[in-house]
Amino acid sequence: MKIDHIGIAVKSLAEATQVYEHALGLKVSGYDEIEDQGVRIAMLNIGESRIELLEPTGAESPIEKFMSKRGEGIHHIALDVDDIENALERLKAAGVRLVDSAPRRGAHNTRTAFIHPSSTHGVLLELVQHGE
Ligand code: ZN
Repeated sequence: MKIDHIGIAVKSLAEATQVYEHALGLKVSGYDEIEDQGVRIAMLNIGESRIELLEPTGAESPIEKFMSKRGEGIHHIALDVDDIENALERLKAAGVRLVDSAPRRGAHNTRTAFIHPSSTHGVLLELVQHGE
């Protein structure tokens, strides 16, 4: 396993990428929008891992709800897995509370599932399996 990316909730991708690209010197590797999660994404490569900037697309976006309670900041940590179904089965068998009991479409040809922070000591974890 490795850390695939760290998700950061931001009000504005345009403003956030200014800092992360121009001040920190990272490069945006791609943009994506996931309609059913109400989010626009900018991915920035950093070594073998990435930073995922998340901008809400509307008031119903989970990212908007997160920011209304806690402001901008780290939203989740994503772990790279080889077999997401197998990982979810193991977690279910261990009694871990899941947000997603089955994988859903993530950014850039990935499948993802979230683990509820009540089971992971306050951290929202995302499992990510990359496509071929
Ligand atoms: Zn993510």
